[in-house]
Amino acid sequence: MVQAYIGLGSNIDHPVDHVTRAFYALDRLPSTRLIGRSALYLSSPHGPPNQPDFINAVAVLATALAPLALLRHLQAIERRHKRVRAPKWGPRTLDLDILIYGKILCHYPQLIIPHPLLQQREFVLLPLGEISPELKVPGNGKVKTLIDRLDRVKKARVNRLP
Ligand code: AMP
Repeated sequence: MVQAYIGLGSNIDHPVDHVTRAFYALDRLPSTRLIGRSALYLSSPHGPPNQPDFINAVAVLATALAPLALLRHLQAIERRHKRVRAPKWGPRTLDLDILIYGKILCHYPQLIIPHPLLQQREFVLLPLGEISPELKVPGNGKVKTLIDRLDRVKKARVNRLP
C-alpha cells in the first residue's frame, strides 16, 4: 500500500456536502482506505472573479491503486458529483487532485505528481500542514517549509472552519 494525498475542493451547490461525501467515496474505492483527513477550510477563489469561496480539504489514502488508476477513479467520483469541466479555475461542484503519491515523481500527459501547483496553493498547503507538517514533498521541501514560504496575504485567504 502507498500513501496518497488527495486535494478536495468545491464552491457551488452545497460545497460542504460535496466534500464530506467525497471523503466517503474515497474510502470506498477499491483496494483503498481513507486513513486521514484534514478539517474543512474556507478559501478565496483563484481564477475568474465573482465566484463563491471554496471549501477545501486534504485526504490521506492507503491505496494499492496505481497512479493512473487512482486518477481514473477520482474522475469518476467527480463525474458522479456532476462536475462540468469548464471554465479553467471556474466554479466546480467537486475537484479532486492527486497531490502526492508515496515518494514518486511522474510526468504523464494526463498526470503530474507531485501536483505542479502544490507549492503555491495556500488552500492545499495549509490543510496538508495540519495533518502532515513534516512530510517531505518529493523533489521539494517539507510541507511546513513550503508553508513558511507563503506570503501573509496568501495565508490570510484560507480559514479553517470550526
Ligand atoms: P483540474 O481542472 O484542475 O481538475 O485539472 C484536471 C486535469 O488535470 C485533468 O485533465 C488531469 O488529467 C490533469 N492532471 C494533471 N496532474 C494531475 C494530478 N496530480 N491530479 C489530478 N489531475 C491532474
